[in-house]
Amino acid sequence: MHLVFWGVRGSYPVPGTATTRYGGHTSCVEVRSNSNRCLIVDAGTGLRGLGQKLAAENAEQAESNYNLILSHVHWDHIQGLPFFEPAYQGGNHITVHAPRVAADETRKVISGITRHEFFPASLEAAPAIFEYVEVMPGIGLEIEDFEIMPVGLNHPFGAVGYRINADDTSLAYISDTAPFDRMLHKQHFVAGPEEASEDDLVVLKKLRADLVSALKGVDTVIYDTHFTEEEYEKFPHWGHSTPEHALQICKEAGIRQLILFHHAPAHDDAMMDEIGAQYYVRGKKLGVVVSVAKEGLTIPIGVRRGGTNPGISA
Ligand SMILES: [Zn+2]
Ligand SMILES: [Zn+2]
Repeated sequence: MHLVFWGVRGSYPVPGTATTRYGGHTSCVEVRSNSNRCLIVDAGTGLRGLGQKLAAENAEQAESNYNLILSHVHWDHIQGLPFFEPAYQGGNHITVHAPRVAADETRKVISGITRHEFFPASLEAAPAIFEYVEVMPGIGLEIEDFEIMPVGLNHPFGAVGYRINADDTSLAYISDTAPFDRMLHKQHFVAGPEEASEDDLVVLKKLRADLVSALKGVDTVIYDTHFTEEEYEKFPHWGHSTPEHALQICKEAGIRQLILFHHAPAHDDAMMDEIGAQYYVRGKKLGVVVSVAKEGLTIPIGVRRGGTNPGISA
């Protein structure tokens, strides 16, 4: 199994000279099994490039199946869907697995982004057949070569991470999430930091324990590390973590490799180099190899990378 990053950014795309090396597209990861089955994780703007590649790969086929698993339905995780080339070929079947994080069904939420007020063509009227499947934390699913376990995260209106097993190895995609000690995100907007109640703390503790246990034995973890420590102190209610939060979880779960992901739009290439270098050293102390997600980067799962940091080298 290996993965390829097509979008590594959180919140909104930031193309331009400041992000040339790490990339400006929002969250999208291609996971491939050794027998070349493809699983798409999240559908940010990075999905456009991946869709072009997949359409070219399958150009000879009258119909193809595509499987996507979504962490949640915030913009930066779904905005590439209307630009997914296979959606515009009749006969294709696209299955979107997602947690139900809002009152509306996922179909309605995602179709909503192509309502006529916002977009000239409706995704629901696209030639490909779309199917929406609800996922729930703790209830596993199997998609082609992949055994997948959704795990609950701490994010405004909810999100799930995924442990993905295939080819006798495992990776996990843990985005988006706040840490599990200060504030519990629920189904409501938060205007500012909120104090966790005793009950909230019990829920947080369980969420964290379930996450650590789901990650046991995983080789490589992609984790939402949107914030620096200083930024997190200012915005603990935004639902994102820091590399230190991710490292603590990975250390407890015995993870070999942590990949920093969902980079804040304001973190330019120079800053990402610094963050990568700092946490590579910090990770080494804790026994975790820390890398930084970059658009276009391919990572083999379960294969040692010799300790080099792809976030610093070319
Ligand atoms: Zn996000
Ligand atoms: Zn989000």
